[in-house]
Parts: sequence; C-alpha cells; structure tokens
Amino acid sequence: KQDGEEAKEIAKYLPYFPFKGIDRFYDIGGFLYEPAVFQKIVDIFVERYQAIGIDVVAGLDARGFILGPPIALALKKPFIMMRKKGKMPNTVESKEYETEYGSRSGLTVQADKIKKGDRVLIIDDLVATGGTLSSAISLVKQLDGVVVECACVVELKLFIDPSEESGLPSRTKSFAK
Ligand code: IMP
Repeated sequence: KQDGEEAKEIAKYLPYFPFKGIDRFYDIGGFLYEPAVFQKIVDIFVERYQAIGIDVVAGLDARGFILGPPIALALKKPFIMMRKKGKMPNTVESKEYETEYGSRSGLTVQADKIKKGDRVLIIDDLVATGGTLSSAISLVKQLDGVVVECACVVELKLFIDPSEESGLPSRTKSFAK
C-alpha cells in the first residue's frame, strides 16, 4: 500500500462527482488521461508484484480491465477477466453480494483459467465496502487458486451511520486515501 506524497500526487488526478445518491463517486478517467500518472500507478504495482511473485492477474469488470492488462504485460503473466454473469462460456460463479447501493449479482471466471495452486493477483480500480473483492476472492478459492493480494488504486474509508436504517456503510463523510 502506498501512502504519503505519491498517493497525494495521484489523488490530484482523481475527480469525483455526485452519482446515484453518492456525493463522491470517483472518476479514474482523470488519471487515465495523464500518461505519466497512469504509468506511475502501473509501475508501483509492477514493482511490488515482481518482488512478491504471482502467476495470473485477474481484472474485475469493468475498470479492472483497464488497469490489469498493462500490469499483466509488464509482469509477462496471463490476464484473466472476472465478469458479470452470462458474458463468457464455461464459467464458475460467485454468490450475490452487498454493496453501498444494495445487492449485486455474483461475478464469473472461466474455469480453465485458474489452476490449482495458481497465485492470483486481483485488480480493481477502487475498494469501498470490499463486497466486490470478496466475491472475486471466492471465485479464486472455488478453483483452488491462491489469492496473493487484491490491489486497487483507490481505497475509501467508509463509516456506518447509526441513524441509517439500511445498516449499509456510507461514504458521505468519507474521503479517498
Ligand atoms: P465495493 O464492492 O463496495 O468495494 O465497491 C467497489 C466496486 O464498485 C468496484 O468494482 C468499483 O469499480 C465500483 N465503485 C464503487 N464506488 C466507485 C467510485 O466512486 N468510482 C468508481 N467505481 C466505484
């Protein structure tokens, strides 16, 4: 995890806007448009996972499909997609899960793309409740792979508002780190 100056520099290129009742929905289009910043992000991950060692990079639908491939290519490792249901043949599927917006249907991955004991790196743009990453982790486990780490560019600090009936975490007073 990168904190400090580098993270602050990257955060400058991460605009947010109000979206579906969320006051700060972050837009990674900000740093994708800045080649030096995008390259820096890729380099940070490549350096880390070259040192740790992985077999496969798994990207989550949809923005993990943007960040995962340059990392996989630099590491010279296969890239695999974890997609929403019904988009690929021969898949295994994870259960429905909860997010800030309510429940989401599970993710899928092609069964032949993760082999027993494969060391898998999961990539997405942002982690909020962690529901999506948990779903991805369960897919790797179903195929007897090993999740080395989950890597995201943005980690949100959420909080539980006791007056909120849904009990779901909220980002209203949160900030991106
Ligand atoms: P979680 O499952 O609650 O951790 O939410 C993370 C998932 O929702 C990731 O796949 C993100 O791409 C997406 N997501 C949630 N909030 C944002 C946001 O502010 N900007 C972009 N994507 C988001």
